[in-house]
Amino acid sequence: MVKVPFACGECHLVLEDGVEMCSRCPTARVSMEHQGYVIIMNPNRSEIAKRLKIDRPGKYALKVSIR
Ligand SMILES: [Zn+2]
Repeated sequence: MVKVPFACGECHLVLEDGVEMCSRCPTARVSMEHQGYVIIMNPNRSEIAKRLKIDRPGKYALKVSIR
């Protein structure tokens, strides 16, 4: 069985295995319902990073559904 990681509903960061809280936005809700991944290496030069308001490198989900 594949375990789905949580993604942060606020910054869209895909969290590590077993992590249920975003270190950047501890009050944000996390969700297992997310689609598409993007690895941001250089946020300053990435159009996707700008659109998603990402300012730190990492792995992000394109779409996060919070219920
Ligand atoms: Zn976050």
